[in-house]
Amino acid sequence: MKITNNFNVPETLLALANRDYYSKGNSDYSVTEIISPPRIQRLRKQHWDEMEQDVSEMLWSLLGSALHVVAERSEIADHTNEERLSAGIDNVILSGAIDLQHHQDDGIVITDYKFTSAWALRQDKPEWEQQQNIYKYLVERVKKKPVKSLRICALIRDWSRRDAMYSQDYPQSPIQIVEIPMWTYDRTEAFIKERVELHRNAKVKADWGEELPMCTEEERWIRETKYALKKEGRKTAVRVYDTEKEAQEHLAMMDAKDKAFVEIRKGEAVRCTGNFCGVAKWCSQYQQLLKEANVDNE
Ligand code: SF4
Repeated sequence: MKITNNFNVPETLLALANRDYYSKGNSDYSVTEIISPPRIQRLRKQHWDEMEQDVSEMLWSLLGSALHVVAERSEIADHTNEERLSAGIDNVILSGAIDLQHHQDDGIVITDYKFTSAWALRQDKPEWEQQQNIYKYLVERVKKKPVKSLRICALIRDWSRRDAMYSQDYPQSPIQIVEIPMWTYDRTEAFIKERVELHRNAKVKADWGEELPMCTEEERWIRETKYALKKEGRKTAVRVYDTEKEAQEHLAMMDAKDKAFVEIRKGEAVRCTGNFCGVAKWCSQYQQLLKEANVDNE
């Protein structure tokens, strides 16, 4: 991947961005890889040399790397920082780097650091649950010790003291500990096997030049279409509805002098449209959808 420097940031930062912090050791798959969509992983491998990213867009991944370096320096009794564990399963080696393990008498507490936004923290995070439970599986298999809890230490990038004061739903501090539900050993093993199989099949398809498995709606981060009831001259919506019927019903009750109307906020696959996967321009699934949308708009 080529890292560009469109905003003339210091060379030192550019050099850091060019360093490859990501390693999966001698394993076939990393935990991060198997929980991510096979289509994205394959396209990234196929187009790695053509991919480009500007260093200015890498702020949070750079800070994430910096955090790991700093955390490694903090040596405290019964705590293990940044340990990579591997295990064989279904003829492949799977490995994962665990940010922090706290060894207690009755088991190990696993903690992972995540930079996130206040909004994202309040959404479901299936990938956090999957990742942490695979770490639990690796620890229990390799160390033969029980894991007693799984936690995310969420570092909220856009935390606002004002929003925290006015909303109890809003995270009350810029660092939040999120407890993650634990799966049984058997459930996690079955999940890992399922994911490895998906990635193995995708590789075979890629090798044979066949169509890759499609990303699911969940993997494409689908944002549903919403219907906002608005008044002329007012920036924010009176109310936002999931269905047009509800919005129209509310509109019918409004006074004519309000000059109200329903604005359709079209849904989209955020990961594709924002190119958060990094491979949207090579993705036939997304390109086909764009083509169909253009035909509809003609
Ligand atoms: S563009 Fe969308 S469908 Fe294609 S790989 Fe990326 S997330 Fe998946």
